Amino acid sequence: TNPVFTGLETTIFETMSRLAIANKAVNLGQGFPDVDGPEDVRRTAAEALIDGPNQYPPMLGLPELRQAVAASAKRFYDLDVDWQSEVMVTSGATEALADCLLALMEPGDEVILIEPLYDCYLPMVRRTGGIPVRVRVTPPSWSLDLDALEKAFTENTKVILLNNPMNPAGKVFSEAELARIAELCVEHDVFAICDEVYEHLLFDGKRHRPLMSFPGMRERTVRIGSAGKTFSLTGWKVGYITGAPKLLDPIAKAHQYVTFTTPPNLQKAVAYGLGKDDGYFTGLSAELQAKRDVFAAGLAELGFGVLPCEGTYFLTCDVAPLGLAGRDTEICRRMVEEAGVAAVPVSAFYIADAPPNYVRFCFCKKDEVLAEALARLRTWL
Ligand code: PMP
Ligand code: GLN
Repeated sequence: TNPVFTGLETTIFETMSRLAIANKAVNLGQGFPDVDGPEDVRRTAAEALIDGPNQYPPMLGLPELRQAVAASAKRFYDLDVDWQSEVMVTSGATEALADCLLALMEPGDEVILIEPLYDCYLPMVRRTGGIPVRVRVTPPSWSLDLDALEKAFTENTKVILLNNPMNPAGKVFSEAELARIAELCVEHDVFAICDEVYEHLLFDGKRHRPLMSFPGMRERTVRIGSAGKTFSLTGWKVGYITGAPKLLDPIAKAHQYVTFTTPPNLQKAVAYGLGKDDGYFTGLSAELQAKRDVFAAGLAELGFGVLPCEGTYFLTCDVAPLGLAGRDTEICRRMVEEAGVAAVPVSAFYIADAPPNYVRFCFCKKDEVLAEALARLRTWL
């Protein structure tokens, strides 16, 4: 008999984007900007498509991109990284996550996951034989329960998967929370896989602090970034992993069998982009912060309970104050069909026992698109 494939379902992003198209909705579900990133970066890719490189690049990535990733680690976080032995390019952060789990996990190993969690973590952990152990950050403040965190570490814990800044919560972990996570990793000899794709999308003057930079973490952490987020080019799927050779070596072995390489012309353009001046990076977060503020104010005026958002593309809202019938999934279905606005039910980001009353809106959209969404919601409510 054929095996039964469990744990691989249609993602909420696919479901909501299909519904958005079918209903001609304003799509604030799946997280992607509706304006393409910097023209000079795109032009660099275009030139590299014509002039090359167009053949398989080195398995670990083009040297110039690996050098740029290492230089960024120094420039933004004062981390010393050897580009030759500690950086690898992947086809998006998603591939990076898969490579890390394929390489580091053995069946039965426990992995600490923090809910609400990005959607690919759970199926990947399960498919690599890992046992998910959950800890939560709790709305409305999204603070981490440090006692629960401590209890989650056992003698079987292999990895903690940390997404900071956090999708969908828009949370940036505090120094104290990161310091405690680091202490527990050291104490229990645990690896950290850090999904930091939103590292440049922090608001209100906050600065990203990689877990890798905490005492004892340099050798036990891998840090994942994504050009999709840093350059508003989500379809490019260029990601990068930084980590000590003893971790990166097995991860690179996994990468050989997953994609082996990533389009070299895009790598060339991303290498160029990472060298842009500080104004580019601060400008990107300032632009998003202004959108967050306008959209959050509009939602609050309509009666949504808007939760704090310190970074990412996403605003999470409590829909309970609106007095609508049904859970978040039902409300999102009605919102896309009746109001013509697609959002994502936050329960999709929980393993079980999800709170039923939160929805996520993506706000990295043109001002007029956000205004149209608010107008449609006003008519609907
Ligand atoms: N991690 C998080 C937290 C994300 O939100 C996303 C989605 N953009 C990814 C990973 C995947 O990134 P990429 O598109 O580079 O694969
Ligand atoms: N990261 C995007 C989000 O959270 C979705 C990416 C995807 O479609 N898998 O909306």
